[in-house]
Amino acid sequence: MQSAPTTSQNPQAVAAPVPPAARTVASIEERLVRNRLGIYSALFMALRAKHPPTAAHSLRVALGCSKWAALRRMEESERELLEVAALMHDLGKIGIPDRLLQKTEELIGNEQSLMRLHGELAIELIAGAGASPQLLDVIRHCRSRIDNEATANPTLQTKDAPAKIPLASRMLAIADAFDSMTSEQPFRRAMTRETAIMELSKNAGSQFDAALVREFAQVITLPSNELEKLVAKRWLNELTPHQTPGFCENNLTASSGAMQTLIDTLYHHRLLDSMSDAGIYVDYDGCVLSWNRAAEKLTGRSAASMLHQCLTSEVIGLKTVARGNVVDELCPFRLALRSEAITNHKYVLVQLDGNEVPVNLNTLLVHNAKHEFCGAIFMIRDASQQVELEEQVQNLHEIATTDNLTHVSNRGELSRYLPVFVEHHLATSCPGSLIICDIDHFKRINDTYGHPAGDDALVTFSQVLKQLARAGDMVARFGGEEFVILCANCDNAAALSRAEDIRRAIEHTLVAALRNQCMTASFGVTQIQVGDDQDTLLARADQALLMAKDAGRNRVIQIGGDNSEVDEPNRKAGWLSWFTASEAKAQLLQKFYLTAVPQDIAVERLSGFINDHKAEIITVETNKVVLRMHNRESNSTRRQNDRPVELLMEVLLEQVDIRPQSNRGSISRQTKMNVTMRTVKLRDRRLSNVVEQATQILISFRSYMVAQELTEEMQSLIIPPR
Ligand code: GH3
Ligand code: MG
Ligand code: MG
Repeated sequence: MQSAPTTSQNPQAVAAPVPPAARTVASIEERLVRNRLGIYSALFMALRAKHPPTAAHSLRVALGCSKWAALRRMEESERELLEVAALMHDLGKIGIPDRLLQKTEELIGNEQSLMRLHGELAIELIAGAGASPQLLDVIRHCRSRIDNEATANPTLQTKDAPAKIPLASRMLAIADAFDSMTSEQPFRRAMTRETAIMELSKNAGSQFDAALVREFAQVITLPSNELEKLVAKRWLNELTPHQTPGFCENNLTASSGAMQTLIDTLYHHRLLDSMSDAGIYVDYDGCVLSWNRAAEKLTGRSAASMLHQCLTSEVIGLKTVARGNVVDELCPFRLALRSEAITNHKYVLVQLDGNEVPVNLNTLLVHNAKHEFCGAIFMIRDASQQVELEEQVQNLHEIATTDNLTHVSNRGELSRYLPVFVEHHLATSCPGSLIICDIDHFKRINDTYGHPAGDDALVTFSQVLKQLARAGDMVARFGGEEFVILCANCDNAAALSRAEDIRRAIEHTLVAALRNQCMTASFGVTQIQVGDDQDTLLARADQALLMAKDAGRNRVIQIGGDNSEVDEPNRKAGWLSWFTASEAKAQLLQKFYLTAVPQDIAVERLSGFINDHKAEIITVETNKVVLRMHNRESNSTRRQNDRPVELLMEVLLEQVDIRPQSNRGSISRQTKMNVTMRTVKLRDRRLSNVVEQATQILISFRSYMVAQELTEEMQSLIIPPR
């Protein structure tokens, strides 16, 4: 027959008449079979879900009690009673608010009172599940003080007073206290086993049964691995739902796994809590199982408010770096549930008070021993300092690579990027083009409106370039009022049309600093060709620019590619390659001289000139010598415009017969010299001092050759060859 049901309002009602022992055993066994594996295990699972540390503690206490009972050779029924009571003794914590269970400091005042309620709550819950009076009795008395019991009832003040409290309660009280003391608590460190036994002994006779404390002290010193295993198997077996009573190896494995999970949970919980990064552990449904202290600090959201919530970007306040909502498909929490880990992703975390913190998020997927996915740990690191550092590096990088007036890339950055740009397009056979542009008559602008107005005009000009450049193009200030645009994936025709767009835009842009006048600019465009390097590409574009200037400015000239207006440059590498193609444009000066000696003597004189000038002979043909003239006084000068440049000097020798100026004279054999000065680098042609350098060389040449400039009159005396 079943014992009378207890009422939750009056736990005392169930304490009374103890049924006969046989009935008790039968009743408990019956309940174990019928309920323990159903309602009790469900209750225990509920406790584990609510507060895993308490469930783990109950488990250890029950194991300890069972072991002790085995050594004591307790009746099987008593032992089971003790085991179940130990498992259920803290069940009341299901009803205690999370914030108390998770509080890291010691409880105070009201909190203590509220927490103490869990004893009564346990009785109510277990009674509600149809527990026997014996079970309720054991649990109710497991918190009774031995001396209170005696004081409350003077008739019991005898030497065997403790006997009034059930033996199981007295044993449970000791095992419970011992486990609490020897395990880590949020508010205090774990004691050693020795210290805990000393504490128990100190309170023996008042709080605990002195004889049992001594016995317990011996029990825990016994080497009892095997015994523990048997005990664990036995009662875990009973705790496992949906099983038939008795020993079942499969279920035992599962149950041992459950115990391991509890221990693991404890371990992970503590590990997570000790980390400086926010650590959030979710199960395979995304439900928060653990929310460490760093997560509380970083998110501003307490563990109590987050536990058991489904983790989403909105719940935690996660935003993209651009402060937008994280889209579902890219939400790291959702991805994790699909077993996709995100590593080192940047986000912004909006704290509860609205404060924004840049963070890095990493995901660790958690799998069990069978490699089944069972959840994920999200590690979130405050990246404020890292972001600050990145910003500083970015600032420094900008200072180093940007022109400080126009804020486009500077010449250094262009020099670094141009070879990469050329190589990339050659390697991928993708068309790439270069536009070079130069403001027309800028010197005049400065002279008319002043240098600051000129600066403003440069800024306006560069803004137009930036506006019309495509993303991925580089706009760079090449120097002075000259700019370069590197047009990625763009052929000659497209680059030509873009340069034309820019030219038109400039032509129509009013510049306030120039009293609302507009500027014009000239453009050179070319496309990367096989065999190009940065110098040949730039030289070709520059040549086109010079042509645009020469042709009257405010126009675009293009060289190379299908729409070439000029023959394709020679594709040989080296300076000669472009020299041949563009010699006319590189030409600085051309002079014709006449020396009154035949060609062989002229050649001798020429060698004296070559030696003294330490000129390098580039080519020698019968009538032609090409020399490279190094400037020996070429100390590097501060201004680019003043630096000495290398010049090419081409001398064409032609033996001519000169008619006498009067009838009395005779025909003389002289040497006519056609001398052309060019710059080695095409763009050097525009340096202000280059013509002067070339002129100086020609003066020297003339004196070595004892020559005079060929006048028209002398030219008319030359007898044309037959
Ligand atoms: P062209 O049409 O042939 O290009 O003639 P230009 O006058 O534009 O060319 P030139 O090379 O003779 O003059 C360029 C001037 O640009 C000379 C220089 O003082 C001026 N300049 C260079 N850099 C700056 C700058 O940063 N600010 C200002 N205001 N002027 C500059
Ligand atoms: Mg100019
Ligand atoms: Mg210029």
